[in-house]
Amino acid sequence: MGNTVLVVEDNEINRSLLVMILEETYHVLEAGNGREALEILKDPKNTISAVITDLIMPEMDGYQFLEVYSSSPQFVNIPVIVSTSQSDSESEVKCLEYGAWDFIKKPYNAEIIRFRVKNVIERSELYVLRKLRYQEQFDTLTGIYIQNMFVQQTKKLLRENPDTDFMILHFDISQFQVYNSVFGRREGDKLLCHIADLLRKLEEYEKKITYCRVEADAFCICMPAADSEFIQKMMDEFQKNFRSYQRDYNILANVGVFYIEDRTVSIPAMIDHAKLASKECKGSYIKNYHIYTDQMGKSIEEAQSIVSEMERAMKEEQFVLYLQPKYGLANYRLAGAEVLVRWITPEKGMVSPGKFIPVFEKNGQIMKLDYYIWEHSCKLIRSWLDRGLEPFPISVNISRVSLYNPRIVEEIHELTLKYDIPAKLFQLELTESAYTDNPESIKKAMRQLQEYGHTILMDDFGSGYSSLNVLKDISVDVLKLDMKFMAASGSENQKKSESIVANVIRLAKDLELPVIAEGVEEKEQVEFLSSVGCEYVQGYYFAKPMPVAEYNKLAFKV
Ligand code: C2E
Ligand code: CA
Ligand code: CA
Repeated sequence: MGNTVLVVEDNEINRSLLVMILEETYHVLEAGNGREALEILKDPKNTISAVITDLIMPEMDGYQFLEVYSSSPQFVNIPVIVSTSQSDSESEVKCLEYGAWDFIKKPYNAEIIRFRVKNVIERSELYVLRKLRYQEQFDTLTGIYIQNMFVQQTKKLLRENPDTDFMILHFDISQFQVYNSVFGRREGDKLLCHIADLLRKLEEYEKKITYCRVEADAFCICMPAADSEFIQKMMDEFQKNFRSYQRDYNILANVGVFYIEDRTVSIPAMIDHAKLASKECKGSYIKNYHIYTDQMGKSIEEAQSIVSEMERAMKEEQFVLYLQPKYGLANYRLAGAEVLVRWITPEKGMVSPGKFIPVFEKNGQIMKLDYYIWEHSCKLIRSWLDRGLEPFPISVNISRVSLYNPRIVEEIHELTLKYDIPAKLFQLELTESAYTDNPESIKKAMRQLQEYGHTILMDDFGSGYSSLNVLKDISVDVLKLDMKFMAASGSENQKKSESIVANVIRLAKDLELPVIAEGVEEKEQVEFLSSVGCEYVQGYYFAKPMPVAEYNKLAFKV
């Protein structure tokens, strides 16, 4: 017995009659009123194929039931038949308005009822089938192809045009989530539909074309290959259109281009290549399209080899601590150091953190590496103490990914206990953006670490958007102001950025936060920083990151 029919009727005689009529063909469930019926419908155990409902019932009558039913998306495919003794067209219209699929009249005629139930079930199945078939091919929001269909259609296009060169464009909207949060999801959806319309328009000019929505805000086009000038023109047209579509927001597309030269490459791989190229744009207003080069593919391979070599590298202690000294600006005296990881491999020599940290952040391995560095830093402090030295504090970096570790506070605290080192010697650097990601839990974690005696430094201050806002309500002890975010000296914007730095330092003083300027490379920067009362400095001008042995000489003259 396949289908289940739900009979909603308060009159027991009528109900048993209906059950009798249907029992032969269906599994039948019974409800005495609309409320009970909804409970049965909502119960995930039940898969109802059709509902027959009376109109006049206690508690929740048929109209109220239909009203709830018609506004519940999960019920739209379940047909409802209204059973009525009234034959006025007014109540019938009302039922139809609420989405009733059919009517049966009392007194019951068994044969008619069986037919009507059978019909509505078949109709609904057909409807669901059609919808499923549609969803297999088209994106429900925009109505254009989904990726699977795009792949098929692109294959066909290539096959039918063996002499035409093609390219694949992949593009997405820069910071689409920001657009969504500024204007709301509904507007975001509207923008996506607008883009789909633009793609449809392309078809008026170019017949050899396919396109699809790949996912979220990402779209793909396959069309005859064109030179950069043409692509640039096309992008300019898009940008112009976006500007008139939304005057209050700078909608920007990141575009990646893959020229199809080798047709044996699979289409999904071509899409991936185009997507990879689009990542090069990084939301730039200057160049918002990039063409795929094999070098881009190489960096992916490089990333993969980094991933697979990590475990072994850690066992073999290939990750090495370097220390970059920090100085007090008033007296140029050493005040501590930042721990910076270096990966020294037998094959490749020194690999810079700029290469592997982003890879480890993406796959989560950074948590392990962070812990490794913290532990080795604690060991280093222990070794200084064991030698009877009086070390300055050292600071380690905490990746924003590590902040998702719910045990982070315990892990750090346990390390200081294990190596028996004072928490004040072990400082923690956290980037500004980490605070904006997940403010509540991070604030709490930082507060606890401060209670254990750690100093918290806010790294890369000035790189984010919300800097000044963030400052009001978080627990940090020191601000690190990165000079690389300032305009170069001699440049047009130098005065502006100097005034920003001066103001940030003044504000920090109001909040009683010491400031350390990092990335200080030039004498003029040092002079300017002293003139505005910056307390500490770190940078190539004073010292580069160095191996521990070299730092020992500098700090302890040993
Ligand atoms: P960061 O925390 O902002 O570290 C400062 C970076 O600036 C270091 O780069 C340092 O060598 C560099 N630097 C210092 N002085 C100057 C200067 O005067 N001019 C210039 N141009 N650069 C200067 P490095 O060592 O390549 O590290 C890059 C980033 O990698 C770090 O940025 C940090 O975010 C991350 N990193 C490094 N070590 C670790 C680590 O152990 N754990 C985690 N999670 N991240 C780390
Ligand atoms: Ca840092
Ligand atoms: Ca920094």
